[in-house]
Amino acid sequence: GALDPDDKTLIDRRARALGPAYRLFYEKPLHIVRGEGVWLWDKSGKKYLDAYNNVASVGHCHPRVVQAISGQLGVLNTHTRYLHEDVVAYAERLLATMPDALGHVMFTCTGSEANDIALRVARSYTKRQGVIVTRLAYHGLTEAVAEMSPSLGAFAPRGARIRLIDAPDTLRVPPQDQAAKLAADLGKAIAEMRADGIEPAAFIVDTIFSSDGLQPDPAGFLKPAVDLIRAEGGIFIADEVQPGFARTGDAFWGFQRHGLVPDMVTMGKPMGNGFPVSGVAMRPELVKDFGEKARYFNTFGGNPVAAAAGMAVLDVIEDEALQANASRTGAFIKEGLHDIATRRSAIGDVRGAGLFLAVECVTDHETNTPDAGRAGFIVNHLRENGVLISATGPGANILKIRPPLVLQRPEAQLFLDAVETAFAAADLRLAPSR
Ligand code: PMP
Repeated sequence: GALDPDDKTLIDRRARALGPAYRLFYEKPLHIVRGEGVWLWDKSGKKYLDAYNNVASVGHCHPRVVQAISGQLGVLNTHTRYLHEDVVAYAERLLATMPDALGHVMFTCTGSEANDIALRVARSYTKRQGVIVTRLAYHGLTEAVAEMSPSLGAFAPRGARIRLIDAPDTLRVPPQDQAAKLAADLGKAIAEMRADGIEPAAFIVDTIFSSDGLQPDPAGFLKPAVDLIRAEGGIFIADEVQPGFARTGDAFWGFQRHGLVPDMVTMGKPMGNGFPVSGVAMRPELVKDFGEKARYFNTFGGNPVAAAAGMAVLDVIEDEALQANASRTGAFIKEGLHDIATRRSAIGDVRGAGLFLAVECVTDHETNTPDAGRAGFIVNHLRENGVLISATGPGANILKIRPPLVLQRPEAQLFLDAVETAFAAADLRLAPSR
């Protein structure tokens, strides 16, 4: 249907007030006014299944999180220069979800800030500058992390101290070669860096490689690369902004799927279910010198409301057994997608862990050429039919499916039916896939 005239006006006002840097999802932008659980409502009252939002991870407007935030907001909201029970209790509770080696956590407000401070600590500890990331990584928006976020494109050029390596690629690299290739590529990047007079301080990856097109398999493939960066005197930073907080179903943290313990862990997005809460956990020795010399104060980071939000999220994940649900419901969706794929040559690969899934659209199974046109068609078709996802990856051809962790079987079935319908419609509207 046509765009609502009021929405058209709002789009114009938005462009005038916010400027040109913002983007809207979908050919026909969505005007959402309310959310609850896995559902969103637009202003006309139409309901959408949110299969994309990994921020409202325990469900939109979860009553326990809303209660925790608004309750604390009515009592006290200051900062970390005063003693407060809750921020300490929250830090202890968060660290208890991690390996013992990670002994401190520092709080920030965005994932970008968490990566930024992790980088400062890593560089000060190693007294080195070089950082290796994957070719389409996204680690955030500050000056320091944008230069190591090549998915931002050519306008955010790679920093002089940054080197890029290929992310794993399930469809194009045999599973048994994935670990060795990643470590070999890292080794080459380190050698190149050294040839330019730069020593490696850190290897940082999103442990599920979201912006690289979602690469979860085979679990364990990260380990040799992590061993290598340490052998070369650098540290390993796990960016858990996307896979963390039980999303993968297999584990609470993405790095745990790879059987390793990072030197630092950065986190954000689902941490406060939409309230800005983020942080970085680390081995205590890394921050000893930095802490003594640099101090650390973040006006909003770790305030009592943030702590209340974070604590409520952990409570809900535990009490509603959301990791088990992610595992169970995620497996059901993956099976359903595999089933659809057997009937659709446009699907080159289905992969995922828990409630983080990807469907790779290709022109044919022989060349596996990315089919961004089809992926875009599917995303917009689903939106018209009340299901929200997006597309990602090097060829913009990978459907990214990432619903709140409270998604249950009936909604999962509804999702699968909509995907089947969308692929059938794509075959009618576009050239049928070969
Ligand atoms: N790291 C990863 C892996 C992310 O996906 C993101 C956000 N998309 C960030 C860091 C940055 O987080 P924020 O937008 O909260 O700054």
